[in-house]
Amino acid sequence: MGQDTPIDRSTRWPYRDGELGEFSYSRFDHPAGVAAERALAELEGGGQALLFASGMAAATAAVLALSGPGKTIALGEGCYYGTTKLFELLEPWGVRFVQYDQAGPPPADTDLVWIELPGNPLLTVPDLEAAAAHPAPVVCDATAATPILCRPLEHGVDVVLHSATKYLGGHHDTLLGALAFRDSELHDRVKTVRMQTGAIASPDSAWLLSRSLKTLELRVLRQSETALELARRLAGHERVEVVRYPGLGPDPLAARYLHGGFGGLLSFDVADADAARRVETSTKLIANATSLGGVDTTIEGRFRWEGDRVPPGLLRLSVGVEDVEALWADLEQALAQT
Ligand code: PLP
Repeated sequence: MGQDTPIDRSTRWPYRDGELGEFSYSRFDHPAGVAAERALAELEGGGQALLFASGMAAATAAVLALSGPGKTIALGEGCYYGTTKLFELLEPWGVRFVQYDQAGPPPADTDLVWIELPGNPLLTVPDLEAAAAHPAPVVCDATAATPILCRPLEHGVDVVLHSATKYLGGHHDTLLGALAFRDSELHDRVKTVRMQTGAIASPDSAWLLSRSLKTLELRVLRQSETALELARRLAGHERVEVVRYPGLGPDPLAARYLHGGFGGLLSFDVADADAARRVETSTKLIANATSLGGVDTTIEGRFRWEGDRVPPGLLRLSVGVEDVEALWADLEQALAQT
């Protein structure tokens, strides 16, 4: 499946002699989705994959399939803000969550472990083996690592989650989520949840993913190389207080789990919220926008979304594929405004 294959947007396919064919109704599955799922599963090292209407739709299906009333989720601290919001939403349904330092083992007496590789926006790397040694199933949100830098299923994780809106889609033009599995029983269980909640991705989004996967490795390696260079330069800048990037090391977990690069995402702190506002509104090449993982570099102060969960001067930088010198010149002139 690729740009050469037309998108089949049918919502239903006729029965054959009264019997179900491979496809029947597009809420269950559809040709563009199945093709993109196969390509993604291969990138994750085998197994099976499922596409969803967004990363949060994928997270919702995973949590509904793997948790329930009276269950407790161990969530890596500093993981994506929206994940904590989803778990809070589920509290009235009897699902609890506790946060823990994902660089160590998850707390005992929890029923589901949820980690992020690396965490957005604090860029901590989880101990995948310590999570896998816990008796509960493990979900790893590997949105920022992508299967190019790490395949968590090969480290004992049960489910890999992607906001495919980010690196997998990569062009700021498709909202999409994905889950990948080693175990076909678990895949089937989550697929039933997807069908019953109607959380499947559209054929158009799936088709765009097939297009984007062809350049995923090129993009991620380039983004990682540029991000490492910018992280090093930012770390030496007088107006920058802290830089968070797994490649700045020493980070034994980053060295163990990330190969070929450390990803295109980093965060850094300037003095305060006012300084962060001046930086993000002064960039010219770099877009002042939310989201991450696309070919265009974006910057945003996360305080506006996450409040006290992050330092007021924290800026999240998602490095795209532009020239590193042009990006550095833009950052330098923006930092000069603080
Ligand atoms: N996981 C991570 C790490 C994210 O950064 C995001 C979105 O920013 C999500 C999940 C949710 O994905 P989506 O926005 O596609 O629903």
